[in-house]
Amino acid sequence: MADTILVVVEQKDGKLNRVSWETLTGAQEVAAQTGWTLEAAVIGSGIGGVATEVAAKKIAKVYAIESPKLEPYTPDGFLAALKGFIEQKRPKLVLMPHTYQVRDFAPKLTTALNRALICDAIGFKYEGGKLLFTRPMFQGKFVADVSFGGDAPYFATFQSGAYRGDKVEEGAAAAPVETVTVEIADGAIRNKPEAPFKEAKQAIDLTQAEVIVSVGRGIKEQKNIELAQQLATALGGEIAASRPICDSGWLPMDRQVGSSGQTVAPKLYLALGISGAIQHVVGMKGARSIIAINKDSEAPIFEIADIAVVGNLFDIVPPLIEEVKKAKGV
Ligand SMILES: Cc1cc2nc3c(=O)[nH]c(=O)nc-3n(C[C@H](O)[C@H](O)[C@H](O)COP(=O)(O)OP(=O)(O)OC[C@H]3O[C@@H](n4cnc5c(N)ncnc54)[C@H](O)[C@@H]3O)c2cc1C
Repeated sequence: MADTILVVVEQKDGKLNRVSWETLTGAQEVAAQTGWTLEAAVIGSGIGGVATEVAAKKIAKVYAIESPKLEPYTPDGFLAALKGFIEQKRPKLVLMPHTYQVRDFAPKLTTALNRALICDAIGFKYEGGKLLFTRPMFQGKFVADVSFGGDAPYFATFQSGAYRGDKVEEGAAAAPVETVTVEIADGAIRNKPEAPFKEAKQAIDLTQAEVIVSVGRGIKEQKNIELAQQLATALGGEIAASRPICDSGWLPMDRQVGSSGQTVAPKLYLALGISGAIQHVVGMKGARSIIAINKDSEAPIFEIADIAVVGNLFDIVPPLIEEVKKAKGV
């Protein structure tokens, strides 16, 4: 039997989430490099429509794994549905988006199958017949290439932003969709789900801003945010931040840019003291022009910056505000 990659995508109310499309793009790249056959599984109840949507992409086959007991989501239900399916289909590799839901059931599933799981991958390498997944370590300070031990199936999750969802390749023709109706025994589902976790609702729409001045931990103290605000005001833009700034309550949550914040695409994004972690970059890499000020010349933000300013933001920003005001005649 040919080696197969199975992408377990995530749907809610008949819609695939962004990270699932991103994971499909990543899986298409793995398939292209390894030559393995790409298939996908959609899980839930009444999910034929979303399975058909996935089948329009460059993929060999889509399984719609159905049971009324799979709605609402429960880890026990997903374990019951996926364990038998994977044991029967025996894919070489199972890829999933690194979502809250996958984080909930994937450890349980892989433990039940006694298999390894590589979480939070941001890429992969296929070298000499060996598949390696790249994942950040120590809060993104390092990345490590990790391989699997033991037997297939191997399991990995792709982090949000690792691939571009809009780059998923269309298929030449629609792939076949096979509906797999799973029997889930009474009593197998012991969990009583509450309302799913929701990110904070956004009051400020940063997506419309043409200029964004964004602050990271390099700003050091809450009182220094004022400096960034002055620059934003001088430029006629909005202030935004990386997650630690909003987590600390220095700016409201709706000012956060990144995978768990807003995705912005201004004409100018000025990053002050932001390291450039992938979860941040995914929310701002669409900016037309990126200027980054960071005292560390090795900061990852410089990899995507159009203008890289290596230096102390407290030396650079005050004269910059003055220059902007002068240029604007205020
Ligand atoms: C599930 C998940 C979701 C996440 N979602 C998001 C998200 O939506 N948005 C987000 O931003 N993060 C998110 N994160 C966190 C992310 O991984 C990083 O931890 C975060 O982006 C780092 O913020 P930072 O760049 O401000 O801080 P740091 O990584 O600490 O970087 C601070 C930078 O400031 C520089 N610096 C220090 N002093 C100065 C100075 N005086 N002048 C100039 N530069 C200076 C340093 O060199 C450093 O590069 C998420 C993490 C997880 C696990």
